[in-house]
Amino acid sequence: MSGDAPARLRVPYVIAHAGEALPQRLRFARRPLGGLRLAYDDPRRGDVVHGVLRARVLNNRRGAPQWRKLNTLRQWRCMEKNLCQVCGLDATDPDTGRIPWITTATAFRDIPDVPNSGYTSAPATCRACIPESLGMCPRLHVSSAVHTVARSEPAAVLADMFTPGPDGRPVHTGEHNVLVGLNEPALLRNALATQLIVQLHDLQPALHLANRS
Ligand SMILES: [Zn+2]
Repeated sequence: MSGDAPARLRVPYVIAHAGEALPQRLRFARRPLGGLRLAYDDPRRGDVVHGVLRARVLNNRRGAPQWRKLNTLRQWRCMEKNLCQVCGLDATDPDTGRIPWITTATAFRDIPDVPNSGYTSAPATCRACIPESLGMCPRLHVSSAVHTVARSEPAAVLADMFTPGPDGRPVHTGEHNVLVGLNEPALLRNALATQLIVQLHDLQPALHLANRS
């Protein structure tokens, strides 16, 4: 093996693999206080997180990488623990205590009237992985900018939406990747969440990180 051979493209930690998909057998269950909520046929502890049913997937990184799809469990874990989406390790910069974050037009939105903040579905990227991650952006046809943030907190989910059918079985409304706030319980009861969205606080440009090579 030649040491000069170009490094094989590393599959980022957060990317889904073909062998991780599971069938989603869903129903609408009656709630103790009345009304219905989306549930699995065989409910398990941990199905419902932040008040929403989370899509089940395996976490074994087997099968071909699906470059445009994120693994729900690993994406969620990255968001809750500020892990790097490429290497899966803590993304917090030990020197500054701040978290480097690559924002892309497709995965970031401003919050009106809240300066230096925003919602994103893309996890953080540690300093060491920033060049590699920026190198993937043109390939994925996304524009990007590098920031740092002081902290992040869960704010919403991206979800597939369901409605009860005539026989009580859930009917997919056809809506994918609907942004549902964690403060919208009525909508959360009809949602199957595939990604966790966080609010970023004290978002500052970090050109010095983008220019390292
Ligand atoms: Zn990393």
